[in-house]
Amino acid sequence: MSDPATGNGGAGSADAGDGTRAVRAGLPEPVKHEPTLPGPVFAAHFHLPGDPTGPYTYGRDENPTWTLLERAIGELEAPGQDGAETLVFASGMAAISSVLFSQLRAGDAVVLPDDGYQALPLVRAQLEAYGVEVRTAPTGGNAQLDVLDGAKLLWIETPSNPGLDVCDIRRLAEAAHACGALVAVDNTLATPLGQRPLELGADFSVASGTKQLTGHGDILLGYVTGHDAETMAAVRRWRKIVGAIPGPMEAWLAHRSIATLHLRVDRQNTTALRVAETLRGRPEVTGLRHPGLPDDPSHETASRQMRRYGCVVSFTLPSRARADRFLDALRLVDDATSFGGVRSTAERRGRWGGDAVPEGFIRLSVGAEDPEDLIADLLRALDESVS
Ligand SMILES: *Cc1c(COP(=O)(O)O)cnc(C)c1O
Repeated sequence: MSDPATGNGGAGSADAGDGTRAVRAGLPEPVKHEPTLPGPVFAAHFHLPGDPTGPYTYGRDENPTWTLLERAIGELEAPGQDGAETLVFASGMAAISSVLFSQLRAGDAVVLPDDGYQALPLVRAQLEAYGVEVRTAPTGGNAQLDVLDGAKLLWIETPSNPGLDVCDIRRLAEAAHACGALVAVDNTLATPLGQRPLELGADFSVASGTKQLTGHGDILLGYVTGHDAETMAAVRRWRKIVGAIPGPMEAWLAHRSIATLHLRVDRQNTTALRVAETLRGRPEVTGLRHPGLPDDPSHETASRQMRRYGCVVSFTLPSRARADRFLDALRLVDDATSFGGVRSTAERRGRWGGDAVPEGFIRLSVGAEDPEDLIADLLRALDESVS
């Protein structure tokens, strides 16, 4: 029963089902009279007589609550990969920045997607200010392949947010490695139950845990999983010098939330596909995207590398005014940014100004409501928003 490598009695082993691994992910060996998941450890410093050796010295460097969460995420991102290591961060952006800024130097070239997360242009400007050459290409059509030559790092976001384009991770990773470039994948939208980038050849899987991983819209968190000790040591050093660390309470809440990840993901993603199929029948809906739709441009590649297609559906309504009226008419869907939560949210993405999307573009994140209720609400709001 006991497996010292994972510390969870073997139930989280690589060949167990996703639900089994999620509920047991990162749990320590049972100890009589102790809770199953130990509570958050609030400590700025730890008792440390004599030489300052780890594992726990100072709270910016390590924390036992992080250790359990890092183990949990690692068991989902890289099951059975012995050398894999996970580091948690204060937010997804802290995790993204830790990889880019720890791996790139002045004079290096990096390839980013031009349709990725809306804060990437800010990162781009900062990288350029430090003398890094930044090249961009769209996610769809594996267009990043064309600008890889001589790059030090390839940054992939698949499915992309908010456009839901997909690229072939295995193919891009092979090409990047042939050029000597490292490969990082933003795995936020898929979650580790939807896609495992390290198995597809990536060097880093990076994600915002703020979204479906934790799924309640109440925590900011990020993580990096990698399998090379040297590159991960640089990421760890970056976390230490920038100090972008999660609070113990957030880390503990995240770990608690991962126990229901498979339930939330299965429910939300199944409903998302039903919602997409329903919206397809509506004349005012154009540009409908969901990687799970069999005729979606992303579907073929997605079905080769994803195990679940995500809870986000995007589409365009005829005008900004129509989109605003639609959002206003919804009762079960909150008008809010972010995605992946158990309560459905939607927004007119163009209101931020950062994404190249039409004015009527809606990003809908499907929650855990009963599918019939949600679909009825969406159809009613579409009808009511006509004028
Ligand atoms: C939200 C998001 C991020 C940023 O994560 P934060 O936790 O908000 O810092 C990065 N990448 C993608 C794809 C996201 O959706």
